[in-house]
Amino acid sequence: MAKENDVELVSVSKLYGTTRAVDSIDLRIRGGQYCCLLGPSGCGKSSTLRMIAGHEAVSDGDILIAHRRVNDDPPARRGTAMMFQSYALFPHLDTLDNVAFSLKMQGVPKAERRRRAMEMLDLVSMADYAARVPAQLSGGQQQRVALARALMTRPSVLLLDEPLSALDPFLRGRMRAELRRIQRELGIVFIHVTHSQEEAMALADLAVVMKDGRIVQAGPPREIFNRPATAFVAQFMGGHNVMTQGGRTVTLRSDAIRLSRGDADAHRRATVRDVEYQGPQVHVALATETGEDMAAILPERTYFADPFAPGDAVALHWAPEDLHHVAAEV
Ligand code: ADP
Ligand code: MG
Repeated sequence: MAKENDVELVSVSKLYGTTRAVDSIDLRIRGGQYCCLLGPSGCGKSSTLRMIAGHEAVSDGDILIAHRRVNDDPPARRGTAMMFQSYALFPHLDTLDNVAFSLKMQGVPKAERRRRAMEMLDLVSMADYAARVPAQLSGGQQQRVALARALMTRPSVLLLDEPLSALDPFLRGRMRAELRRIQRELGIVFIHVTHSQEEAMALADLAVVMKDGRIVQAGPPREIFNRPATAFVAQFMGGHNVMTQGGRTVTLRSDAIRLSRGDADAHRRATVRDVEYQGPQVHVALATETGEDMAAILPERTYFADPFAPGDAVALHWAPEDLHHVAAEV
């Protein structure tokens, strides 16, 4: 069933007055996929999500869910649910009643709604906290309750707008893994807005990189990381050098560069600007003699076999097949 719940956007635009927040985007998310909308602040991620949810009208184009046009349907009739931030929980209701709230509104009898809410709390590993009110829960626990509440309506598409941004890095990592587990277990579409490329790479089956209201590239994270379509995507994803070679723009992964001390056959010569220890790897910032800023990422052990200091002259080497041509647009 879940497999048929494709979400399709066909030439969808959103205008606020004369501001074109979303500019004619086409996107197909297949049933069961975890999709991340990714891009810098103001690129149109939340507007896109709110149009899918039905909280914002579509200015132009069509939105289809399970092959049915939903432009004119109210949010409750779309089979979507939005996971709101944890502060939207009812402070005076305990965890179980917060989660069961939508069922109460639908007139589901008490015993039945408590049973279904408990099932949902179990799914998000919060069954032991059913009797607590939100103030007695940590931020991460409140987030799980908010997730359980959103899932209670049995949506075929769950929409999440920067759901992890309020959590500390440790909790964020844990909650990220939980989201992925729950999405797999339910087999429904998750559409998750984030400005973190790390989050999108960790979670997404389909990552969608947006810029200025448009989709610049959509695909599996590994494909986007290894074959960025534009210089902007390479820079936004990180871990790449963007350079000009023979009049064309190319990208080169920072971990594809080898450093030595002045061989004649080097691809570039540079001075070490800065060395940053990152645990499993070492990040070496470089200023080339042609005036470019570049970076090399070396495995920790490789680096410490022959470490460099700021000011050292180095030679850069790479395999020609590691150069990847991109559109110059930044
Ligand atoms: P993102 O979620 O990627 O940060 P948004 O979708 O929130 O981006 O916003 C995209 C653009 O639309 C921005 O320029 C923003 O200022 C504008 N915008 C968003 N919501 C409104 C609104 N309700 N009224 C007017 N402009 C808006
Ligand atoms: Mg936003």
